[in-house]
Amino acid sequence: MNCGLKDMPIDACRRCGGEVVQKSRPRLAVVGSVLIVAALVGAVWPILWAPAFVTGLTGAYLLAWVAIGRGRWCRGCKRFDGV
Ligand SMILES: [Zn+2]
Repeated sequence: MNCGLKDMPIDACRRCGGEVVQKSRPRLAVVGSVLIVAALVGAVWPILWAPAFVTGLTGAYLLAWVAIGRGRWCRGCKRFDGV
């Protein structure tokens, strides 16, 4: 039952019992890395520190999602499933 680009419900959440979907881990890792590189480049200019910080945090969150959450996302908790 692989629908290609669509997210597949793979499991029930252990916290809320909601639907857990599996995102593409390579894609999350690529996007996270790009955001971190963009943040490092942006951090060169003090005027961009605030957006660079937010961008870097977002990238770190995506990489944590890949590493800790294994690309799993709960639609009930609205967060990655790291349990
Ligand atoms: Zn949940």
